Amino acid sequence: MKEILVLSGKGGTGKTTITASLAILAENSVLADCDVDAADLHLLMSPQVKETNEFWSGVTARVDQDKCSGCGTCAELCRFDAISMDERAEIDHFSCEGCTVCSVFCPEEAISLEPNLSGEWYKSETKYGPMIHAAIHIGEENSGKLVSLVKREARELAEKRKANWIIVDGPPGIGCPVIASFSGADLVLGVTEPTGSGLHDLKRLIDLAHHFKTDICVCINKWDLNKEFSDEIEAYLRQEGIPLVAKVPFDKGVVESLVAGVPLLEYNQGLAAKAVKEMWSRIKALVPA
Ligand code: SF4
Ligand code: SF4
Repeated sequence: MKEILVLSGKGGTGKTTITASLAILAENSVLADCDVDAADLHLLMSPQVKETNEFWSGVTARVDQDKCSGCGTCAELCRFDAISMDERAEIDHFSCEGCTVCSVFCPEEAISLEPNLSGEWYKSETKYGPMIHAAIHIGEENSGKLVSLVKREARELAEKRKANWIIVDGPPGIGCPVIASFSGADLVLGVTEPTGSGLHDLKRLIDLAHHFKTDICVCINKWDLNKEFSDEIEAYLRQEGIPLVAKVPFDKGVVESLVAGVPLLEYNQGLAAKAVKEMWSRIKALVPA
């Protein structure tokens, strides 16, 4: 079993379009959507949710108003300005970092720390195989932990079903959720676009892959929108010894497939779809299942 992690260094490069098409091409696979802050793979894969689970993470302070004397000690000590005082202490759920200081120093023992329900994660079925996905609640943190959970569940399911592939739609950027998504990946597929910011973000992604000693290959999406910049990216990849597995041309079929809410390869077999198919053959040669 091999795990392909699709990353982009930033949002809007077409990463999810590519991932959805790989999910079709990879036979006997499990799909994991690790973009838990702004999940959108479900819009293309139309999963049927079979199981919903709660994601609990971190703690938030809560004041027992009957015990609070209004002394103000907690508000003075809170370094996150999460407590306001009227007659009694009030805690702002979104500002509280759960550091426990207020609870420790409250003379009335009026403050308790309660676990946060931070999101949900799902086990679903799609036309192309099972899918693990999740949604973190607005304003909640710890998306890195939720990414780790989604990956762990996807791996467990893949082992149970003796899957050949785990295809992971990774989070954008290079922050904590992306770092969490690297664990267990056999190959990163970096999806970039031929722009200055695309190359800049790709370089950061490649640095990250080197740091985690994970092999990386690259796909330039909409390469023909700026051929000069595509050449620059290709030259950079050659210099770094990183395989370029696809140059996907601009194709209005991609936009139409997004509007129709289906993966590109299901929508048509145009130029972009053909390039993605060829890319899959090259990926398989890099990491045989
Ligand atoms: S420290 Fe305790 S008693 Fe004092 S204001 Fe805060 S919650 Fe109320
Ligand atoms: S737990 Fe920490 S951050 Fe939250 S209200 Fe208390 S002192 Fe402030």
